[in-house]
Amino acid sequence: MCVVVRASLILNWMLQGMAFTLEERQALGIHGLLPPRFKTQEEQLELCKLSVNRYSEDLNKYIYLTGLQDRNEHLFYRLLSENVEEMMPIVYTPTVGLACQKFGLVYRRPRGLFITIHDRGHVYDVLRNWPESDVRAIVVTDGERILGLGDLGAYGMGIPVGKMALYTALAGIKPHQCLPITLDVGTNIQSLLDDPLYIGLRQKRVTGAEYDEFIEEFMQAVVQRYGQNTLIQFEDFGNHNAFRFLEKYRNQYCTFNDDIQGTASVAVAGLLASLRVTNTKLTENTFVFQGAGEAAIGIADLCVMAMMEEGVSEEEARKRVWMVDSKGLIVKDRPDGGVAGHKLRYARAHPPIRTLAEVVKTAKPSVLIGAAAIGGAFTPEILQDMASFNARPIIFALSNPTSKAECTAEQAYQNTQGKVVFASGSPFLPVTYGGKTFYPGQGNNAYIFPGVALGVICTGIHHISDELFLIAAQVNFLANTHC
Ligand code: NAD
Repeated sequence: MCVVVRASLILNWMLQGMAFTLEERQALGIHGLLPPRFKTQEEQLELCKLSVNRYSEDLNKYIYLTGLQDRNEHLFYRLLSENVEEMMPIVYTPTVGLACQKFGLVYRRPRGLFITIHDRGHVYDVLRNWPESDVRAIVVTDGERILGLGDLGAYGMGIPVGKMALYTALAGIKPHQCLPITLDVGTNIQSLLDDPLYIGLRQKRVTGAEYDEFIEEFMQAVVQRYGQNTLIQFEDFGNHNAFRFLEKYRNQYCTFNDDIQGTASVAVAGLLASLRVTNTKLTENTFVFQGAGEAAIGIADLCVMAMMEEGVSEEEARKRVWMVDSKGLIVKDRPDGGVAGHKLRYARAHPPIRTLAEVVKTAKPSVLIGAAAIGGAFTPEILQDMASFNARPIIFALSNPTSKAECTAEQAYQNTQGKVVFASGSPFLPVTYGGKTFYPGQGNNAYIFPGVALGVICTGIHHISDELFLIAAQVNFLANTHC
């Protein structure tokens, strides 16, 4: 049998499994190579569900699903797209966080493209090694800020792979048009450098001009290989680089930063949905953010844009926002080193306040949003205060994975006597409180980026504006939010 026929046979085999009819088996010369029973895809799907559910540990479920993705893509995507609530927490947050931390252990077969700093000058050649020529979208990370878990270096590959699985499962973008990429410039985490299972470069992160030139070469190589319209989604880059690259490339390439813009869009969608419960306009709310990084600044900026649409000035809108970072409330005359960068526009003319609890007592916010990867930051006292100021406090604990959530759903409902309108970055199970069952919402950019990507690819736009994310927020509502 010639190589080409054999290859296409294997491909079909992977796609159909035991679904080949007798005629197909005979025509392809594979009669006898499969068990005699003919199984429809539905029957095979049932087996997959049974197989996943046999594992008690989520990491083992992740390994099973990765294996399924390798051997039968059709089944994998059907299983994922028809069982989103059950399967998404496995291929995505929170389990993907654990998988990234143990990536050397769970790694079986290559998926996605690894480009290292040592490929400088040859990035295009590495891209040429990718076997697909019709790539429309890339999710790229350099692994420096993987979820709230920090610098995981090349172990971060689980994130672009998981995100791209959702491109297909949630937006129907063809898998071969999706390319997950990890740019490996090293890691500063000594335990990874010492880890015998580590799959990345064993060196500290390259920074400065060399790093910037590498990213620049990567961007140019993508366009050279796949065209100007290729969507490049930045994912889980460190804070300092994420903002810089967004500013640098947003008008030059077809790109967006999911942590800044995607998160903003899903959070504003969630806020707009919550306002139906509180019966208020956005401008009638006061917002406190725990964290002033990619997610928090992104959300605050889009909130400001949405408030301006309600008719207030930018300055007025910004005044509704209080931001807390590791040093406390962000204020104009901060004693210990001042405020820089994107935080500056949220610096208040206010005496310094050190803790989140004090900021909450002072600002009496109606909306409290956590995105600082400090697990448990929303203490019972803070939650109770929120319930004392508001008939229906809006509280989003957006940090991932679950261990980094600012509070659990149970804590949120219990400490507010069930009054809270709650959403979290990673999913929580329903909570029963006072004889009533509450269904926590999930506020995760997964509910935005696949749709945005599909829209961008279909329309062929070259540059992605913030307005697009506001429109996405307005036409969406926070999936699964039950108040
Ligand atoms: P980042 O590194 O850009 O920002 C973190 C911010 O937290 C910084 O401003 C830092 O000053 C602040 N911080 C650190 N310690 C603090 C403390 N003790 N008190 C108050 N603030 C403190 O990271 P990011 O991209 O904004 O991500 C933060 C978290 O949000 C992560 O857990 C991430 O997984 C999560 N996130 C969730 C989503 C989602 O869709 N739900 C999307 C993006 C990010």
